[in-house]
Amino acid sequence: MSLYLKYRPSDFDNLVWQDFIKDTLRKAVANEKTVGAYLLCWPRWTGKTTTARLLAKTINCLNPYDWNPCLECEICREFKSESLVDIIEIDAASHTWVDNIRELIERAQFLPTKTKYKIYIIDEVHMLSKWAFNALLKILEEPPSHVKFILATTETHKVPETIISRCQRYDFKRISHVDLKSRLLYIAQNEWIEVDDASYDYIIKNSNWWLRNAISLFEQLISDKKISYDDIVSKLGIISSEEINLFLDKLLNKDIAVLELFDTIINDWKNIKLFFKELIFTAKNIAINKVKTGESIENYIFILDILDEYYIKSKNSLDENTTFTIAILKIIWNYETTTKKENHIQKNIVSIENHRELEKKSETNKIEEEKSEINISKSDIEDIFDFWQKEEKTKTNNSNFDVNLFIDNLKKSWAKWWLTMALRWSKIDYYDDLLEIKASSSITKKSIDSSDNHSLMHSVLGEMWIENIKIKIV
Ligand SMILES: [Zn+2]
Repeated sequence: MSLYLKYRPSDFDNLVWQDFIKDTLRKAVANEKTVGAYLLCWPRWTGKTTTARLLAKTINCLNPYDWNPCLECEICREFKSESLVDIIEIDAASHTWVDNIRELIERAQFLPTKTKYKIYIIDEVHMLSKWAFNALLKILEEPPSHVKFILATTETHKVPETIISRCQRYDFKRISHVDLKSRLLYIAQNEWIEVDDASYDYIIKNSNWWLRNAISLFEQLISDKKISYDDIVSKLGIISSEEINLFLDKLLNKDIAVLELFDTIINDWKNIKLFFKELIFTAKNIAINKVKTGESIENYIFILDILDEYYIKSKNSLDENTTFTIAILKIIWNYETTTKKENHIQKNIVSIENHRELEKKSETNKIEEEKSEINISKSDIEDIFDFWQKEEKTKTNNSNFDVNLFIDNLKKSWAKWWLTMALRWSKIDYYDDLLEIKASSSITKKSIDSSDNHSLMHSVLGEMWIENIKIKIV
């Protein structure tokens, strides 16, 4: 069992964030002041269903203890084993038809079989159709006393006002750094894992402040019951904080040597994007601290502006090293005034360009080698274009799966050039437990469909927290 599932909160005490909402909800349960409909609004998908389930369970628990579900009574046990028929979970994304809601309303009239209240949890409620919303509104206007609704959404603006006004609404905030850290500390203690402070910071920063991501990353980084920042540095090809500080110092001090340092980083095969992300974080944090002590941060703002701009640009650039080199040059150029230093820059640009030429050449050779392995003919290319023109018209986008991110991650995991190209030329559809790749021609199919590629794709999907999924190539 993954750590995320193992530590999914089973009672309110373990729900480590959103104290205000948590306390309001549990007090309402304790004083039997629960309402007929709740609307839980979240900035992202993580965690809202956990709270919805927890609330449903606590409302129905036979012996709530200290405003928590007891986890031992018949109801709590049946809930855990998912055999409780009175708590009904519906994913609106797949139940948008009005008939589903009608059926739900009809069934809601019957008393619960075991529990005090029949509870409907409707996840992603904003996905319901207009007609379905109207049907839902009818029952929300006069809900039977034995029924409660817990609606959850990540896109509150898509839920009609009429529905919102009939619910008790809770807006959840993003989990804070402190809360995330305390949850990770708790897991580390329970699992007897030794973790240093720098690792916690690294994990939280790279989780985008989503608990699920943080726990998954935490789990990935454990080796020998330990997570150490030094290990992370060597494992993930990131740059140590000393090096980042040194780099930042050189940038601030208009030191031309920063270009050489950057070259060394590239040659060491470090992860350049991660490096820049860290650099931006570090500069931002120093700037914030300086503001607090009343120091000037003009030069920090100047650097951050450029780094941030080029970080975003790097996402669409063919060669991120060049993009970041431009950012560095831009920073230094604006600082430079003397001719002597300008000459020095010129020299460095020339040497960097030489370096790029060499790099490009070796990249081209690699592509040529792979091409000769694959043998694409002109008619293959025509097939691909034909397919793509047809598919472009019928293209649908109904899932949250980010195809580009998937392909980018494959690239980062050293997928062959031809595999990523073949995927770009295919149509990729994502369903709950299936990734369907519609290859654009027989040659693209052939180049995707190997056992090596399958396992590589699975491991990349795993890194994107998509597990237990089948890959079908048609
Ligand atoms: Zn109970």
